[in-house]
Amino acid sequence: MGKFEDFPLLALRGRVLFPDTTVNFDVGRPISISAVKSSAEYESRLFVCAQKQSDKEDITDEDVYTAGTVVKIRQITRLPGSTVRLTVEGLFRAQARQVRKENGTYIATVEEIVPVRGDKSLEEAYFRTSKEILKDITSTDSRLSKDALSALDRCSDPDVFVNLAAHYLQIKTEQKQDLLQCARTVDRLKKVDKLLNDELEIMRLERKINTVVRQNIDKNQKEYYLREQLKAIHSELGDDGEECDELKEKIEGMDMPEEAKNKCLKELSRMSRMQTSSPDYNVLRVYLDWMLDIPWSECTEDTEVLADAVKVLEDDHYGLEKIKERITEYLAVLKRTGGHNAPILCFVGPPGVGKTSIASSIARALGRNFVRMSFGGVKDEAEVRGHRKTYVGAMPGRIISGMKKAGSINPVFLLDEVDKISSDMRGDPAGALLEVLDPAQNSTFVDRYIEVPYDLSKVLFITTANSLDTIPVPLLDRMEIIELTGYTPEEKREIAKRYLVPRRREANGLKASEISITDRAIDAIIDGYTMEAGVRGLERKIDAVCRKAAVKLSDGKAKKLSVTDKNLEEILGSKRYVRDGGALKGDEVGAATGLAWTSVGGTTLTIEVSAMQGKGDVLLTGKLGDVMKESARAAISYIRSNSASYGIDNSLFEKTDIHIHVPEGATPKDGPSAGITMATAILSAFTHKPVKKSIAMTGEITLRGKVLPIGGLKEKALAAYRIGIHDVIIPAENQKDLEDIPKSVRESINFIPVTEVDTVFKNAIQGI
Ligand code: ADP
Repeated sequence: MGKFEDFPLLALRGRVLFPDTTVNFDVGRPISISAVKSSAEYESRLFVCAQKQSDKEDITDEDVYTAGTVVKIRQITRLPGSTVRLTVEGLFRAQARQVRKENGTYIATVEEIVPVRGDKSLEEAYFRTSKEILKDITSTDSRLSKDALSALDRCSDPDVFVNLAAHYLQIKTEQKQDLLQCARTVDRLKKVDKLLNDELEIMRLERKINTVVRQNIDKNQKEYYLREQLKAIHSELGDDGEECDELKEKIEGMDMPEEAKNKCLKELSRMSRMQTSSPDYNVLRVYLDWMLDIPWSECTEDTEVLADAVKVLEDDHYGLEKIKERITEYLAVLKRTGGHNAPILCFVGPPGVGKTSIASSIARALGRNFVRMSFGGVKDEAEVRGHRKTYVGAMPGRIISGMKKAGSINPVFLLDEVDKISSDMRGDPAGALLEVLDPAQNSTFVDRYIEVPYDLSKVLFITTANSLDTIPVPLLDRMEIIELTGYTPEEKREIAKRYLVPRRREANGLKASEISITDRAIDAIIDGYTMEAGVRGLERKIDAVCRKAAVKLSDGKAKKLSVTDKNLEEILGSKRYVRDGGALKGDEVGAATGLAWTSVGGTTLTIEVSAMQGKGDVLLTGKLGDVMKESARAAISYIRSNSASYGIDNSLFEKTDIHIHVPEGATPKDGPSAGITMATAILSAFTHKPVKKSIAMTGEITLRGKVLPIGGLKEKALAAYRIGIHDVIIPAENQKDLEDIPKSVRESINFIPVTEVDTVFKNAIQGI
């Protein structure tokens, strides 16, 4: 039992004092001031204890903890008002046994709390671990001050250690109070041990949070700093980052696939680090412009009603009944399927027969945008797929360029002249096109320039070609062929009246009342100024007429230009072609008129043969393909083996050289069909009997003199009709094709079906 002593009681709010420490605090409450005053009678000592509720102003002895510390006042400083600042030193812990009030001051009778020592080794063990923990705490950034740590470290008495620890640690009042009133040293050590451990944990946690926070701050700060620097550099160089900011905003606001957007942002960030004057900056700038200009999500709505679509087709085109019918079916199916796996239409036919124009009508009928890209003469794969942007002046290929023009992801896309694509060492453009047209692949079409996949699956592709022969087979397999043939003069006249004249008139700014063109004038234009399967030349001539009218009316003197077949030559100059009823000037020996089918339509073909003294050689000149040469040989062999029946001395062949020449321009696509024509010319040359000028022919010949069927009869018949030929010899097997030939042509041409070349000779050569 310790001794009992009296001390004035000073209640502290939220604070517990310990022996072995010196602390400062302010007091101001009257009850506290009077305690301080009374302390003079107690050798400047006070019993300091904590208030149970720190916010309570007026207290009684009930409101304070009974365990406290006896302190010695070292210094009293008066502060303004009635407050005083005390510096006190803790002497020993004490337990109040009794409290009484004397002259307004609480006086406590206290008994010292004497440490109760027990198992020394246990105490030592706790003491040491506590010190170890303290070391860990010291090695990290601690909430404990350096002084506190070194004081604790120096401490050799377990109880003093506990007092100091309790003083320095940031723990709750209750925890401090607990340490204060605990008598057993081992228990006190145990408690401190735990508190230090907690402290260490808290510190570790704090440190962890701190590093994360700091890392974040560091990164942000670094970026911010660099950006600021960059801004400064740019402004020094006179270029502001405004352009990049603008682009960034645009890219972010753009509805495009994730991959494309990321690519744009990446390139933009590269660009923003470059000088505006550098070439690379420009390359990226152009690239980003492309990316922003290509449609990524813009989609047009298809028209609702099919009837409207059909009407558009009807309105835009004259004739072409079968084609319109086929396209109507196509549109109907398209409406049902939404265009998935729709066949790719390929319009095949001579120039100017309306292939492009039908495709654009399909677009109009569906309410889709229309874009046309020519693939004629494309040799380089890069023209389809684009050049890498590292190339100088690189650009996307024709597909992506077309999409930009189209401005929507679901246009009707016309690939023009796919038969004129050729392959060489610069890659395989047809292969690239194949990929474009393949529904399994075209949703991820990659252009080398734009580098990210582009979805072409919603595009409606249509192709055109003049002839099927040169279209690569795999491409051909993928397409549905729709053939368009040439027009008869009557059809051309109708097309001109209904479409071409009004269109050209408008294009030249003329009113309907200012120009009139009679039917006969139109016929005369078709006849004398054009020689074609389609109507392109006709349209050009009509345009020329309209231009002339515009000039004529410009001085205001004349009000109208009436074009008739009489004044046509004044306007268009003299006629370029004369329909004189035959390709030959008159009945000739050794010359015959054949009919050929070329990629630009049907045409006549004059074959000349001369037989001259020699050694039996055969000379072939002019535009002759291999197939035609073989036909020529077959023809000669047939005539030779049957020479007797035509009254030719067989030995003549050994002494005669035969020269066969095909003068006219275009190369026929179907070589063998010139067989009977060559045979006719050869026989005429050997027999010196003339071939009739008004007859034309087409048919393949065999060694035994049979006439085999040919292709393209309609085009050939139209060509004969254009020229004004009245008799056309055709293979008998081709008679079934006659129904495709327009009535007007059938009525004016006498078709002579034959099975034997003999019959050909009888009909064509006079006097056989
Ligand atoms: P292609 O693509 O077959 O070479 P286009 O489609 O360019 O031919 O046709 C040439 C011109 O002739 C266009 O102005 C087109 O409108 C017109 N045209 C062709 N066929 C017809 C037709 N059947 N009805 C009305 N206009 C036509």
